[in-house]
Amino acid sequence: MVCALEFAFVRIGINHSFYYVFASHFTRTCVEQCEKTGCVGGKCSQHCKFSSDGKPEGGPWYLQEPLYLQWKQWDCRSDCRYHCMLAREEEREKLGGKPVKYHGKWLFHRAYGFQEPVSVALSALNLAFQFHGWVSFFILIYYKLPLTPSKKTYYEYTGLWNIYGILSMNSWFWSAVFHSRDVELTEKLHCSSAVALLGFSLILAIQRAFSVRNEASRVMVSTPVIAFVTTHILYLNCYNLDYGLNIKVCVAMGVAQLLIWAVWAGITHHPSWSKLWVAVVGGGLVMLLEIYDFPPYHGFVDSHALWHATTIPLTYLWWSFAKDDAEFRTSSFLKKAK
Ligand SMILES: [Zn+2]
Repeated sequence: MVCALEFAFVRIGINHSFYYVFASHFTRTCVEQCEKTGCVGGKCSQHCKFSSDGKPEGGPWYLQEPLYLQWKQWDCRSDCRYHCMLAREEEREKLGGKPVKYHGKWLFHRAYGFQEPVSVALSALNLAFQFHGWVSFFILIYYKLPLTPSKKTYYEYTGLWNIYGILSMNSWFWSAVFHSRDVELTEKLHCSSAVALLGFSLILAIQRAFSVRNEASRVMVSTPVIAFVTTHILYLNCYNLDYGLNIKVCVAMGVAQLLIWAVWAGITHHPSWSKLWVAVVGGGLVMLLEIYDFPPYHGFVDSHALWHATTIPLTYLWWSFAKDDAEFRTSSFLKKAK
């Protein structure tokens, strides 16, 4: 009951208190009704089947779903909330109203059990591009470029790029999971993996831009960042999943690394400085999509989904820069050795 009430609070601004009360009442009544009948306006939930004595049929909801889908926690109540929100949004649209956010999130149309199908598909595509980029980097560095007599790469940042690749793929994997179904666990995993990736790319930016090569300086540079990121992740997971604070932390780390790369590319005249600049400017521009935040078009494509689309070419460009850098460093090292 408390949940239904809580859920029904629609974020449409403080001044619309009358509408606020009306909307919460509408949704609450709708959810209560749906939990009794299992249907909203002709659409019925497969999770709300009742026998004649009013008890759910086939045991509790978690016994009705195959085991591998249970983490999604689709039950009668969450289905009812979804159908009631859809019904309300349709009603609003007919009256010429604009979409509103529920619990700070836009309402999406589900497809095949996926909550935000477009973002899931694009996250998977990002994952594929990260994998492709990382594999092609790996092949270049270990099979195409010359190795030292002890079978190590001449390029000093190989390990950093490898970890970056793994963290990126991990982050896109959890992004796809989170967009398939947004529950507390998937949200924490998505959030934590994204923060870990951002923190590590900051370390990569600092070490590459300042040419930090010996072990002691590397440890000295990375430790504060790792300590900060770990504390932040623990805070989010164990204490308070504070969105506002998390956005500030992510933007600060993101802007810091974009600035480092941009300034470094300008100063050093790296042979692939143009790729770096396009990636940096592109990265900055696509951040605007996250800030602009428009509602999902036809219930499917919102600004966040578009943001996931734009990161695909940037990923390709970024790995292309990593490969250029590896070739550049290896050849200049070999020239010096001659
Ligand atoms: Zn996302």
